[in-house]
Amino acid sequence: IRSATKLTAAIIKATAEKAGSKLRLIARAGVGVDNVDLKAASAAGVMVVNSPLSATNSVVELALGHLLAQARQITRADRTLRDGKWLKNELVGHELAGKNLGFIGFGRIGQALGRVALALGMNIHVYDPFLPDSVLANFNATRHATVQDVFRACTHITIHAFLSPQTRHMVNTEMIGLMPGVAPDGTKCGNHIVNCGRGGIIDEEAAAAALKSGKLNSLALDVFEVEPCGKSPLFESDRFQASPHIGASTIEAQNRVGAEIAGAV
Ligand code: NAD
Repeated sequence: IRSATKLTAAIIKATAEKAGSKLRLIARAGVGVDNVDLKAASAAGVMVVNSPLSATNSVVELALGHLLAQARQITRADRTLRDGKWLKNELVGHELAGKNLGFIGFGRIGQALGRVALALGMNIHVYDPFLPDSVLANFNATRHATVQDVFRACTHITIHAFLSPQTRHMVNTEMIGLMPGVAPDGTKCGNHIVNCGRGGIIDEEAAAAALKSGKLNSLALDVFEVEPCGKSPLFESDRFQASPHIGASTIEAQNRVGAEIAGAV
């Protein structure tokens, strides 16, 4: 399966208990297994495997693309040019260099993006309660004990955690309200969030309101609470940019995913 198929307890139970069932393994070609009821699979004696390594580099490059497109308003520039508008004066951006980038989740993808962000001259801030301190030393990173603290410190936030009861709607009105809008060097660059992790970690209604009020200057989403996302109030903002869950959709990642999942099977 990939990400769209939902293997609920009822489906797993019915399949495993069917007379002559040969169900032994559920293989998820991708990372997140939030679409499989793991408890039900264990209870039925069915193993679940995934392919956590294949997509890392592709997701990193997409998240970087979103960060750069936000800083320079590339999607807005393209849209307005097509409308015949030459908005050279309005399309003043900011550099990523010197800005604080806050990571919610600093595992495989977070760390790989962290290396790129360091090369761009960004300062790395991390909220990840399960990470050993030794990992952070390589990034000269500032570790924050609470989600609030990382939002307080950063004009840029990127999300690379899984969806769980702890992370659902972790990014909400309160958190966005804490963001400083001003970089450590005094640049009034505003506040910017990217989510290439999992839909649902951002409260989309709260984010749409923050874009409208100007508290949030841009939002980039690759993942949504409901997919396909259909018509969302987010599209009313010209500071919103999006991609339809294509983080792992590269030729290279898809080739690797096939090999990795075959190995896991
Ligand atoms: P990973 O397991 O290596 O990293 C996840 C990190 O999140 C871990 O370090 C973990 O400690 C941390 N974490 C767990 N609970 C947390 C919490 N409550 N608050 C903050 N951090 C927490 O996984 P990964 O390979 O880096 O993948 C990260 C995310 O990217 C996953 O959600 C995955 O589904 C998503 N992903 C998206 C795409 C896409 O197409 N957009 C593709 C692949 C993966």
